[in-house]
Amino acid sequence: MEELCHWIDGKRVKGTSGRFADVMNPATGEQTGKVPLASVAELTAAIASAAEAQKGWAATNPQRRARVMMKFGALIETHMDELAELVSREHGKTLPDGRGDVQRGLEVVEVCMGAPAMLKGEFMDNGGPGIDLYSMRQPLGVVAGITPFNFPAMIPLWKMAPALASGNAMILKPSERCPSTSLRLAELLQEAGLPDGVLQVVNGDKEAVDTILDDETIQAVGFVGSTPIAQYIYGRAAANGKRAQCFGGAKNHMIIMPDADMDKAADALVGAGFGAAGERCMAISVAVPVGDETADALIERLVPRIEKLKVGPYTSGDDVDYGPVITKQAQERIKGLITSGVEQGATLVKDGRDFSLQGYEDGFYVGPTLFDNVTPDMDIYKQEIFGPVLSQVRAKSYDEALKLTMDNEYGNGTAIFTADGDVARDFASRVNVGMVGINFPIPVPLSYFTFGGWKKSAFGDLNQYGPDAFRFYTKTKTVTARWFSGIKDGAAFNFKAMD
Ligand code: NAD
Repeated sequence: MEELCHWIDGKRVKGTSGRFADVMNPATGEQTGKVPLASVAELTAAIASAAEAQKGWAATNPQRRARVMMKFGALIETHMDELAELVSREHGKTLPDGRGDVQRGLEVVEVCMGAPAMLKGEFMDNGGPGIDLYSMRQPLGVVAGITPFNFPAMIPLWKMAPALASGNAMILKPSERCPSTSLRLAELLQEAGLPDGVLQVVNGDKEAVDTILDDETIQAVGFVGSTPIAQYIYGRAAANGKRAQCFGGAKNHMIIMPDADMDKAADALVGAGFGAAGERCMAISVAVPVGDETADALIERLVPRIEKLKVGPYTSGDDVDYGPVITKQAQERIKGLITSGVEQGATLVKDGRDFSLQGYEDGFYVGPTLFDNVTPDMDIYKQEIFGPVLSQVRAKSYDEALKLTMDNEYGNGTAIFTADGDVARDFASRVNVGMVGINFPIPVPLSYFTFGGWKKSAFGDLNQYGPDAFRFYTKTKTVTARWFSGIKDGAAFNFKAMD
């Protein structure tokens, strides 16, 4: 069993707190390693040395920092299969999905290769007599990234690439369930030329997070995880005067209009509902067909597709559609929620509770589960299940489907399947959700746009990646400069226009 470590000052460093968390292979249920949980002292030392390293990094010109991103991107591509294997071993997702996890992170690194264009300020000459104005974007200093288990490559890359390209140092605290990918990415960044100490990967739990939130050196916190923790972190970071953006959970609805292509809608629902065992913040967990005919037509198409799904270990390569959920506790919680759905009156069309795989009986698998006639008062509707469970809520009209989506406390992603451009346009314009798909089930925006939900799916300002990331990780300074040729002597006492 491997003893994992931290990445401090450019080296793999063993933990000294004496506290560890188990790292599992969810496909087999075996423990593969133990990860150290940092103490306050370990974290404080890592932050202090990041602050020293940041000075030189901030003084490095943006093109040179961007060149590190270019080499880093090339190294990620060269090591794609190795990184995907690390992702899948600790998370359980299939290898093609593991490669997708790395790829969607790489795309953000690619945007950061052009960081100098995003970091330029503005200039106005002759803003007044002999007066020029210019603004500059400067790094914040030491910032922190705290990331969830479900995208062990993509989300750490969303955090580290724009923060580092902007001239900050970063303390990255990855999920203790999937720590290995972040450690390997840190090694690749060093190989790409990142100076030691600029990225510190510190593993840990609440003790490490609270130390980050209270430490005076840390200027900003970027968090991704569940809503209760997002809300907690946002509150504590903001109370300590830090900039914070905290992205939380989701309950994503897909509306299916009677004029939709039903086969395409069913394909989309199966992929978006069961891919990665439903452990995506952009997974579709609620299907909302409009009208009973649409609902019946959808069930008729979903059932055979679900029956064909192959669930298994990532080591089966391309032969599996999705793998296990992350832990035994998650498996039990999901099965418990399925039972609650039955008890509360939903129609269980497909039951994944008894799923078992020969040779992998100890893996954390849940079979694909489909409910019909779900209502908003049921726990399976109210809670983020984060498992392979799709709930169908029948709506009588488009307005009822839209209202259901809008009344939900989460607002990460949503989609509509329709052949009517007017309805699609109305939906995109009115719905109070951050990312919208039209005949597109998982509308994670390209890295040149930005990613972020509304309502209880995000706390704080600005989105992740794209132009917003450079705004989040820099501060604007504006200079008003005057040169005195042709200016008369004499003090000015009024706050007047420059002209
Ligand atoms: P989580 O909230 O349990 O953990 C996220 C991070 O917070 C981890 O690094 C963890 O160590 C830390 N943490 C956990 N409990 C803590 C506590 N009490 N105090 C301080 N820190 C704590 O989330 P998870 O289970 O790893 O990830 C799944 C969740 O993330 C889902 O809710 C999913 O929807 C959400 N998610 C959201 C987005 C988004 O962009 N909105 C993206 C991916 C995942």
